[in-house]
Amino acid sequence: MFAYSASDLYCESVPLADIAHRVGTPAYVYSSQAILGNFRAYHEAFGDLPHNVCYAVKANGSLAILALLAKAGAGFDIVSGGELYRVLKAGGDPAKVVFSGVGKTADEVEFALEQGIHSFNCESEAELALIDALAARTGRQADAAIRVNPDVDAATHPYISTGLRQHKFGIDIAEADGVYERARGLRNLALRGVSCHIGSQLLDTDPLLEAVEKVLALAARLRAAGHDIRHIDLGGGLGVAYHAGEEAPQIRAFIAQLRERLKDTGLAVMVEPGRSIVGEAGVLLTRVLYRKKTASKDFVVVDAAMNDLIRPSLYQSHHEIIPLRKSERPPIVADVVGPVCESGDFLARGRKMANVVPGDYLAVCTAGAYGFVLSSNYNARTRPPEVLVEGSTWRIVRPRETYDDLIRGETP
Ligand SMILES: *Cc1c(COP(=O)(O)O)cnc(C)c1O
Repeated sequence: MFAYSASDLYCESVPLADIAHRVGTPAYVYSSQAILGNFRAYHEAFGDLPHNVCYAVKANGSLAILALLAKAGAGFDIVSGGELYRVLKAGGDPAKVVFSGVGKTADEVEFALEQGIHSFNCESEAELALIDALAARTGRQADAAIRVNPDVDAATHPYISTGLRQHKFGIDIAEADGVYERARGLRNLALRGVSCHIGSQLLDTDPLLEAVEKVLALAARLRAAGHDIRHIDLGGGLGVAYHAGEEAPQIRAFIAQLRERLKDTGLAVMVEPGRSIVGEAGVLLTRVLYRKKTASKDFVVVDAAMNDLIRPSLYQSHHEIIPLRKSERPPIVADVVGPVCESGDFLARGRKMANVVPGDYLAVCTAGAYGFVLSSNYNARTRPPEVLVEGSTWRIVRPRETYDDLIRGETP
């Protein structure tokens, strides 16, 4: 959905330079067609297999994006009470919400119970007991799944790998049978599912398929033991192409494989994709402030920084950086850095890129997931606006913050 027409970069039918001129930079821009296309790829590939595609809100919780997905029929995977609040404000259906996370508080569990969410993905026996007690107090029965840790290596960045025995997430699959057995005594908790999530940015789907086999084997054992297991939840994790020319898994092909494997099990299936729905659907627009040469390096100083997009600094991740207008000048090799006072503040290092001059605009690509949601006001920088493109129209769905926003609620 981001492509050049002649020498100008477009999002759908809108020249990105038009947006940059009108809203200023830095600014996040999202393609609604890309987001909906990715969601439908999941939804349609499941076909008539009972399923729920629960978008992982933590990847990008913008109300406009949640509303777009809610209208298309998505469920939502949340990891906090705040994310549930966002989903409700965007018109999401609480009956399609799953609540994940290793540290749910009593307040958050109560809020979710009141709203009637679909199910809790539980990560410890203490959590099962808490949900049971709170459900009893409100006279409800809570549906839950246990998030098991299948002990498969997701082969991704260590910070976003979650499915090994050493990680804080889930319950060791080897101990799961016992946990389900003991939970039979919890009257206000119905354990109806098995869930897992082994990591993020997976470019190889074999570990996911390995996890599926382990989860299915557990579900079969539990059913044989008399547990009323109705669904499995396979989490998120499909990767996207951050490097030009990189091959990311095809959503439709992967889900078709899952469908084949699951169609005769009688189980409903849930997935929790985040990055693979919004990652490629967003760019961060930035403007070149200065060119600067030192004895050893060429720097391109831009107006976007690590507070706007922390992925390069936090995960050493690569984002393609391309000009909004192509030029004939031969490329340069440079570090692209922002104004924040940290050496870790860079968007790219040693990058072969367009030979830009101050005032030129650049797009930092594949910035739709874990971009704005991880932004901060570090260095008292106002956070960028978010823009949603729909065909040939676009609108600001969150304005740029003002200095007043920076001090809201503070007392000197
Ligand atoms: C982060 C997370 C997801 C989404 O992962 P993606 O890699 O963005 O698809 C889904 N489920 C859980 C439990 C998560 O923590």
